[in-house]
Amino acid sequence: MTSLVFRQFICRSDNYGLLLHDDKSGETVAIDAPDADKIARQLDAAGWKLTHIFTTHHHGDHVEGNLALQKRYGCNIIGPRAEAKKIPGLDRDVAGGDRFTWQQREVQVLDCPGHTLGHIAFYMPSEDAVFAGDTLFSLGCGRVFEGTMEQMHHSVNQFAALPPSTRVFCGHEYTQSNARFALAMEPGNATLTQRATEVDRLLAEGRMTCPSTIGAELATNPFLRTGSSEIRRNLGMERATDAEVFAELRERKNAFR
Ligand code: ZN
Ligand code: FE
Repeated sequence: MTSLVFRQFICRSDNYGLLLHDDKSGETVAIDAPDADKIARQLDAAGWKLTHIFTTHHHGDHVEGNLALQKRYGCNIIGPRAEAKKIPGLDRDVAGGDRFTWQQREVQVLDCPGHTLGHIAFYMPSEDAVFAGDTLFSLGCGRVFEGTMEQMHHSVNQFAALPPSTRVFCGHEYTQSNARFALAMEPGNATLTQRATEVDRLLAEGRMTCPSTIGAELATNPFLRTGSSEIRRNLGMERATDAEVFAELRERKNAFR
């Protein structure tokens, strides 16, 4: 089986657009649809036709292009069952624990409540890739809008169980501002300092900071490092549970400037 061709680009101001193309069948998946025109232009430039959209959650910056793209390409939209009514043009709903096949490749659905209640992620073992939407970002995680801190902690932790080599594709290019917060929490983390320097360089060169990998995130992302003694010391939470440290980190990130 040949590997898929990935095409990633920035949409709107900081959303990631992402296309996965299978050369053999000619099928192409968009992970979310932040901007129909931008996605169509990328498809045209590559000479690809859109056959599917995998939707992670109902927010406008992830579904706004659904209907226009569906009208233009007749693509099939697969998205979260718990948000079925809020996903424009949804053809097929899926939920955590579901597995489906796209072009002989297994896609595993992960339930990720927290940012929104029905948020899902898509994991493709054959591509060593997970599409995390607004749950896990590089060096950060999504804001908790609809769920509880406990739910979000559990959702983010699911990613820690994936193989370290797994490539993490996120919904937004937030890595630079996430790095500032992460460094404030764990200034002694040398791997994090290196990553922050790399992020500045990539962006200065007009490049993107994602995909990251699960291994890199485990070493640098404060929301996956609630056991770090440096983070705990900085928060004055040496004896707290991981869930408590996670919630405190999320609150502080909300207020961080
Ligand atoms: Zn969102
Ligand atoms: Fe978003």
